[in-house]
Amino acid sequence: SHLRSTDIRTDNSPLQIFVKAKKKINDIFVEIEDYVQDTVGFMKSLQAERNIVTAEEAERIESYVDKVHAIRDVLKRDHMKVAFFGRTSNGKSTVINAMLRDKILPSGIGHTTNCFLQVEGSDNGESYLITEGSTEKQPVQSVGQLGHALCKEKLCESHLVRIFWPKEKCLLLRDDVVFVDSPGVDVTPNLDEWIDKHCLDADVFVLVANAESTLMVTEKNFFHKVSTKLSKPNIFILNNRWDASASEPEFFEQVRAQHQERAVDFLSRELKVYTPKDAEERVFFVSAKETLQARMQEQRGQPSHNGALAEGFQTRYFEFQDFERKFEECISKSAVKTKFEQHSQRGKHIATEIRQTLDEILDRTQKMKSEQLHVKKDVHDKLNYTEQQLMLLTQEMKDKIHHMVEDVEQRVSKALSE
Ligand code: GDP
Repeated sequence: SHLRSTDIRTDNSPLQIFVKAKKKINDIFVEIEDYVQDTVGFMKSLQAERNIVTAEEAERIESYVDKVHAIRDVLKRDHMKVAFFGRTSNGKSTVINAMLRDKILPSGIGHTTNCFLQVEGSDNGESYLITEGSTEKQPVQSVGQLGHALCKEKLCESHLVRIFWPKEKCLLLRDDVVFVDSPGVDVTPNLDEWIDKHCLDADVFVLVANAESTLMVTEKNFFHKVSTKLSKPNIFILNNRWDASASEPEFFEQVRAQHQERAVDFLSRELKVYTPKDAEERVFFVSAKETLQARMQEQRGQPSHNGALAEGFQTRYFEFQDFERKFEECISKSAVKTKFEQHSQRGKHIATEIRQTLDEILDRTQKMKSEQLHVKKDVHDKLNYTEQQLMLLTQEMKDKIHHMVEDVEQRVSKALSE
């Protein structure tokens, strides 16, 4: 028997790249917030005392408090997003359930997903759903209930229903992965609207194809549209229902080679998102249904299969795990880049602006000091003392900010290169 994959993944999951980067950048912003607050206090004291700082300057620095706060809010909500596409019944919901290790999304006959479903982690062990345009939390205890709740809502196909599932039930949810299941690409004419609404911020796209048939024009079209809007989308192709091939071993190799070649061709020559060699690494032959069953068995403490499964189960199961590993690496790197690079640029920008303002203030105090040289001696001495104090203080603040700017830059580049 093999190791339970949950155990292997706990500590060295590639998702930790994102999780750690998020923590780091958040810490950096906590520091930036402190520095901004300090500077605001410092400038207020200068303003009250000597009119050295203009109201406009003080306001500008003060406005950074809100900006930093807003960035920290966005940071808290930043996540990794994976969106699943494919024709109806190819097994999108089953793939998501297999990855979540539980039957969370309704699947199968009569449960065609007719809107977008987003699964994300919730705190406090709660499970509920929220429909688009509403803030009401509808509690969900079971898949049956979820299916029912989804049926009774009048849902437009481009609408989004958010399903919140306890973080502690799944490592992917705990590590801020958000799953999006789509209605089948065969049922909609509104691909553009879909893409604009739900896909522009996706880090990874998974095309769930049916290994029993070839890639359809509708499936390809969708990705053609995506790649006109996103310069280099990250795409994986899962040839699902590969268990069905077990019944026809005489064609197995041939069918696989053909699917592989077509998928690689699609990703490299048609979409031009990968080289043929890299594209090879993005195509998998799996059975979501078997994987889900196996995992639910494992969850109950039973062996992953009881011998009644189709031949080649173990290989397909490993291939699914291989997909997950590469998926995790890809999604966390992509999310760090797209999400945190922007924040770190903004952090640097704020730090630099503050430094500039403080530089200007220091210059001004120095000028004032030289102008005051021809003021009466006693007044001059008194002023001189205050000026010195002020200069020391400004210099100290400047050093502090200078240090912060360097610190921010260093930590950001270190975090990004890690
Ligand atoms: P969706 O419409 O793309 O979300 O497809 P579903 O996940 O609802 O799956 C449709 C049907 O195909 C369900 O009855 C699943 O149990 C079945 N199915 C999904 N994956 C597999 C698979 O890998 N092998 C087999 N044999 N059936 C599958």
